[in-house]
Amino acid sequence: MIAFISDIHANLAALNAVLADIDSLGTVERIFCLGDVVGYGPQPRECIDLVASRCKLILMGNHEHALLYGAYGFHAAAKRAIDWTRDTLQKVQPVAQRKAILELLQNLPIRHELGDLLLVHGSPRDPVMEYVLESDLWEGADPDKMDSIFAGFQRLCFVGHTHRPGVFTADRCFLPAGDLEDGFDVSDGKYLVNVGSVGQPRDRNPRACYTLYSGQAVYFRRVAYDIEDTAGRVREVEALDKRFADRLFRGE
Ligand code: ZN
Repeated sequence: MIAFISDIHANLAALNAVLADIDSLGTVERIFCLGDVVGYGPQPRECIDLVASRCKLILMGNHEHALLYGAYGFHAAAKRAIDWTRDTLQKVQPVAQRKAILELLQNLPIRHELGDLLLVHGSPRDPVMEYVLESDLWEGADPDKMDSIFAGFQRLCFVGHTHRPGVFTADRCFLPAGDLEDGFDVSDGKYLVNVGSVGQPRDRNPRACYTLYSGQAVYFRRVAYDIEDTAGRVREVEALDKRFADRLFRGE
């Protein structure tokens, strides 16, 4: 079994709960992280350390990209959070540890192929930045977008980025994770799977989300965690918008 985690967003309580759930299964051989370990949340360093020690691979998310190259296209509060994250990481002691974190961030790959699986943060054609949304299937949306995205991978593509877990099918449907409680068979056909967000779910389910892949099917896992702990830490940091704390309770 493979576990995919994504969009942790410096939420250590959520990350710990997800890793404990993974460990409790006893069947997960490898964990892959699809990016956005930092941003919005209060514990970037702790999350980077833990993800680096537990994951086989970490991909570049748009928040890591913003940290390194500038938060272009971010709204003001998200940009402030990135600036605070950068400051926090620049103060990490000892210096060797600080350099190790910087080196890790600078060397994150933007895509990874695993047999017939493609792993990216955003989308196959724009691995770091592009959102693949349910609304891309609605009437009036650019009809070429999904065609081009589905042409960009061989069989299965695992993404994060939108914080909305579920499965996009080749015939242009979106099946939300909430409707797939017994898992979803992906052994036949072509699918794009959004693995959800560990640290900031946005599907109105506040529990941390991650995804298991058995080689045959995907299973979306929801894990309760101490939201109050993370929210309290967000509120203690002046530079982090208090709304980042409030939204955790609503899962949006
Ligand atoms: Zn994210």
